[in-house]
Amino acid sequence: MAKVTRTPLISGNWKMHHNHFEAISTIQKLAYLLHKEDTDAVDVSVHPPFTDLRSVQTVLEADDVPIALGAQHCHWEEKGAFTGEVSPAFLAKLNVSYVIVGHSERRELFGETDEMVNTKAKAILKWGMTPIVCCGETLEEREAGSTEDKVGGQIRAGLAGIAAEQVAGLVLAYEPIWAIGTGRTASAEDAQAVCAYVRSVVAEVAGADAAASVRIQYGGSVKAANAPELMAQPDIDGALVGGAALVAEDFAGIVQFRSA
Ligand code: PEP
Repeated sequence: MAKVTRTPLISGNWKMHHNHFEAISTIQKLAYLLHKEDTDAVDVSVHPPFTDLRSVQTVLEADDVPIALGAQHCHWEEKGAFTGEVSPAFLAKLNVSYVIVGHSERRELFGETDEMVNTKAKAILKWGMTPIVCCGETLEEREAGSTEDKVGGQIRAGLAGIAAEQVAGLVLAYEPIWAIGTGRTASAEDAQAVCAYVRSVVAEVAGADAAASVRIQYGGSVKAANAPELMAQPDIDGALVGGAALVAEDFAGIVQFRSA
């Protein structure tokens, strides 16, 4: 298997926080706080609410800020009678690079199924963007010893029918549901073990080269204090950050995990 260096990707999911004025001020602060050596070593994306995307895009492009624009969700169709939904084509037009799919909040609160995750991932790829495909177990599933079944099933279904060369460029995010927004983090060892398992599932469905290239983020109460240990794990290639991404100083502290 070819040795591949995976550039870490730290993504800030703002969820339903920050109107477009707050978004502009947060992204301006973040651009100021991050240095060239940070963004040379680490890919960074921010995922504001839809109503902020154009404003954030304008700030990033006007100042040539090396932060990628991301979205939190989209529909899989290009257009049509889907009231309230947003087309992947519209996101591509805003130069969105990454789109989160299958976040546990979308699965739990909005009925997003594995099948929808797969259809969306394919649509996002078709429009030249990169899906960040999320997986993760509940506390009950973890305690019942079924973490691998759950996460493995989500990844197999999410990647079904996607060509190995495309899988190689994907981002996967392991987010134990009990660690999201709770202040509880999986230990670095546990997070590493599940991320290594996710990589083994990718090897099984798309081959060893894709598994070596795919980036796997950990998400669940990542902070500047725990980022260095998590990021030191061999199968953790980044972080999907919620709460701590809302404050520019906190998020910059995570991106700067190498100097902690
Ligand atoms: C998330 O939104 O995906 C997340 C991991 O949130 P938090 O960092 O707040 O746990």
